Amino acid sequence: MEAFSKAQPAAQILDFNVVRIAPLTIRVIFVGPYFEPKIIDAAALESLLPKEKNGRILMDENTTGVMYKFDYEFIFAPSSFRTKLLKFLTSIEERIEIENPWFYTFEAGEEWFVTKPTKVTAAIYDARKVEEWLMENISELGGQPENGYTIIIADLRDLPSATYNEISAFLKARTFGITPPQVKAHYYKVNYVDFDRGYRLRYREFAIGWGGSSRFWFIDLSAGPTFVSMWYDLPIQVVMEDQSINPFTSNGAMWLTEYLADYIWEFIYNLAAPDFVYDPPWSMRFTIKISVIDCRSEIERAAVPIEGTVNSTLIEEAIRELLPLSEVDVEVAFLNISGLPELNALIQKYSGVLKSWIHEYLFLSPTNLPYVDAQPIYEYIKGNLNLFTPRIVRNESEYVIPIVAFAFSQDKHFMFKYKWLIAGVNPETRMIWGFSFREFALIGLSHRDFLYGDYVEPKQEGKGFGFSQAIIHEIGHMLGLSHPHTYGDLGDFVCSAMSYFSYEYGFSVFDKDALARMHADKLLIKAYKEVSKAKSELSLKLDPEGVSAIENLIINEFNGLLAKIDDEYSRMNYVEAWRMALNAYDMARKILEKTESLPSIPREILRELEEKDLEIKLLNERCLELEAKYETLLSELSLSRGLIIALSIIVVSLTIVTLLLRRRAAPMPK
Ligand SMILES: [Zn+2]
Repeated sequence: MEAFSKAQPAAQILDFNVVRIAPLTIRVIFVGPYFEPKIIDAAALESLLPKEKNGRILMDENTTGVMYKFDYEFIFAPSSFRTKLLKFLTSIEERIEIENPWFYTFEAGEEWFVTKPTKVTAAIYDARKVEEWLMENISELGGQPENGYTIIIADLRDLPSATYNEISAFLKARTFGITPPQVKAHYYKVNYVDFDRGYRLRYREFAIGWGGSSRFWFIDLSAGPTFVSMWYDLPIQVVMEDQSINPFTSNGAMWLTEYLADYIWEFIYNLAAPDFVYDPPWSMRFTIKISVIDCRSEIERAAVPIEGTVNSTLIEEAIRELLPLSEVDVEVAFLNISGLPELNALIQKYSGVLKSWIHEYLFLSPTNLPYVDAQPIYEYIKGNLNLFTPRIVRNESEYVIPIVAFAFSQDKHFMFKYKWLIAGVNPETRMIWGFSFREFALIGLSHRDFLYGDYVEPKQEGKGFGFSQAIIHEIGHMLGLSHPHTYGDLGDFVCSAMSYFSYEYGFSVFDKDALARMHADKLLIKAYKEVSKAKSELSLKLDPEGVSAIENLIINEFNGLLAKIDDEYSRMNYVEAWRMALNAYDMARKILEKTESLPSIPREILRELEEKDLEIKLLNERCLELEAKYETLLSELSLSRGLIIALSIIVVSLTIVTLLLRRRAAPMPK
């Protein structure tokens, strides 16, 4: 294509099947005692990493039409950089004795065991400060690529770090019920408070990586172990000792190379080039219609007024960041379940209490949990969305996203089943708060969530969770975003509302990039298709001046615009590329319109031509048929000729034989 005739196109459209090729650089910076070129062979490492990756829309089981091509750059930080980093970390270190969910122990309960997180003294570093420091200091190592993402993989085992002996001693102690020994470990913390109800989240001290406020992410392989990934991401020094890995042998070096490749792979799939759950919708205006349905008792309603559980300004701000080129409106309506008798009856009908010996004693998870089966409620709301959102528009000028949020009484939540399993993985509440579907998002919090601080140790009296963060997360899904832990749990250590570990009200640069890039790509593909259609129609147009005017428009303006977009895209100015792609799409539509308005070869002539074409086609077919028949006849003929000759030979031979036999049989003359 003309527009992409540069030697090294940043993004290019391949003809025919319209696939956009998007090159991305992945810069990997290694900081660790064994991360040096003598041990980590760059060629071997690169052979283990994806060269390209199709963008995918997971729920549609479809591709996005964009293929990423990766260029890798490996940088081995000098030991002086590592020393400087260690010095900085020590300067901000906090030693905290704190309950750590990875280090849980069993206690004998009435019938079985119960689990209890134990307190571990840990060295904690502020994740955001570390991210900031690394961002400032990587300029020493060449900074960030112009068209790509940077990952720092560090091994900082000189910090207080868990050892193989400590971990195995802890696990033995847990199994045999003896007092576990002291463990030292280090982690990165982020502080989170629920903005609606003021609850301060627990267990957010146990990250082992962080990033996402720019095109950058770091992972500390020597930190942990973390409950976010119980077994797959044990500290590197623990696994190396456990498996007796000596990185100075060929085998050990290869082990380490493969180990690092897995972390880079996860970074690419989760953060740098993520997939989408739904095909990201585009519109000039997004209207988010939130219906909060209060199902609580009068006393509960008085204790926590429903209006204080959701903040439309926060939601609007978050979504505007994702859709900077659209208008975003958030409307919240508060309803009472008594006004929705049919839905109320359905909730009663499908409510229950989860009582499961297996859940309680084998899974060691809470039981006696009141629930509402989400499936029939989803079906009902899907069929009656007009009760909540009378005007569902979904086109390029407006797109309505309905959110239906329930405030249940006491401790009731929605429940979704897989086979018999009822999963709950939130380390705080172990509940599922929301689901997003194609049509709308369904959210359910309980009165107990609004006052969750009353039920934890130490108490946070009167504090709890509200709806806003869960709503932002679910809207993220409805706009296409997937979880950053889709391909491995560590991706959750990112400042994104899509993470389960974080409790952000905003989105990461990875989220924003993915969405802006996808919208630019989609618009460009659409524009390209329109112009291709126009081009093929131009050959049938009669007005030579009109045709050449449109051809000039395509060559000079449309292709020129594509080249400019390509330039912005290649410098990762995705929002600008997206804005310009909107113009390109607009221009492409006009080009097609203009083409269509030009006089064509008259219809009658076209029809006659088509008829003649058809006649020729039929004649050709007939000709082929006759040829085939002729061939068959010929071969049959040659077969029958052969048969006649063979038969004649047989007849002649038989005659001779008969004659001979006769002569022999004749009586000898005496
Ligand atoms: Zn989710």
